[in-house]
Amino acid sequence: IPHSEECFSVDENKSQPSYKYSKEQLLFTEANTRWNDYNNEIEEALLNYTPCSPQKCSCHYGLIKKDLLEFSQGIQKQDIDEAKARGTLYQIINHHLFRDKDCMFPSRCSGIEFFILKIIDKLPDMEFVINTRDYPQVPRHYGSRKPVFSFSKTKDYLDITYPAWTFWEGGPAISIYPTGLGRWDKFRKSIQEEAEKWPWSKKKELVFFRGSRTSLERDPLIYISKKNPDLVDAQYTKNQAWKSDADTLYSPPAKEVPLESHCHYKYLFNYRGVAASFRLKHLFLCNSLVYHVGEEWIEFFYPQMKPWVHYIPVPSTANEDKLIELINFARENDKLAEEIANRGRDFIWNHLRTKDIVCYWKKLLLSYAELLLYEPQKRDGLIEIRKLNI
Ligand code: UDP
Repeated sequence: IPHSEECFSVDENKSQPSYKYSKEQLLFTEANTRWNDYNNEIEEALLNYTPCSPQKCSCHYGLIKKDLLEFSQGIQKQDIDEAKARGTLYQIINHHLFRDKDCMFPSRCSGIEFFILKIIDKLPDMEFVINTRDYPQVPRHYGSRKPVFSFSKTKDYLDITYPAWTFWEGGPAISIYPTGLGRWDKFRKSIQEEAEKWPWSKKKELVFFRGSRTSLERDPLIYISKKNPDLVDAQYTKNQAWKSDADTLYSPPAKEVPLESHCHYKYLFNYRGVAASFRLKHLFLCNSLVYHVGEEWIEFFYPQMKPWVHYIPVPSTANEDKLIELINFARENDKLAEEIANRGRDFIWNHLRTKDIVCYWKKLLLSYAELLLYEPQKRDGLIEIRKLNI
């Protein structure tokens, strides 16, 4: 199809064939070429994508292998002694779970122990150090190589990734979740139910975000919302660090919104916080289109989720113009947007079940135990953690 300016300015006096487009053709062509790059991204991503089998949690094994490859020379007792300063020491001896008496965040430890106790009968003797802070502990490029388990990291860290405590309990406590965000098993059901009440065609044509200012990467979306509330509803809520309106970009803190209510909106944004944010998995279950900002910070299930297949990737450096462009792409390509939303939802629904989390823990700890070059002996001063009857 001719494209250049001259094709549209045919001299009427010369009897040339007319190359003029109809109005409809023009709009169609402009829309198509405008979004060519993004359409190509989607096409290519889908071509390269192989869905993984829902059998066991094999979908996620890749990360276990990759993380443990860094310790393929084996782990000595001295490595654990050095790692101890970076987290909480756990031991499994004769199918009993023991732990340092003190845990920096008791409910986070409980959220971790819930899963380990579920599989304790299948685990051999071992010991390991779990970091319950948000931030990873083992930089790739300096310091000694210690085996420390963390829930989130970037490529610059060697921490061994484990499924976060919040799948059971110990997530951030906010006014609507005063005992802390947890019970993923229950959220799966309640968000699914709300999503069914808000199918794609009924959802509000708005971008939505609620959360606190745990990372400044969130600011551009808040600014767009202030200027253009018909396009974006993004507002900062309070967190424990809030001191004044300056911490909510000079607006009063917004009321917190339950994760189920996010399903009322077509477009949902996810941002990192201190590390990965626990929000991401909930957003997908809404069957809304997820905009995932930044690819640096991961949780254990992130690597199998692919940009343009399951979500719209947004560079963490994106300015307001870039965000608006990506939002307009979805608004003008509703079918494609809905398809991405469906694939994202299906992935989380099929591959992030409670049994996948239990399965990941089992595969992770069994593979880790094979690396120990000594037989762990019960250490003094640890307490036994027993199963609760739940
Ligand atoms: N959250 C929520 N509704 C809100 C604000 C936050 O459900 O209105 C949840 C959010 O999904 C996240 C947690 O509370 O998992 C903490 O959110 P925040 O933005 O404060 O910090 P983040 O963990 O994302 O850095």
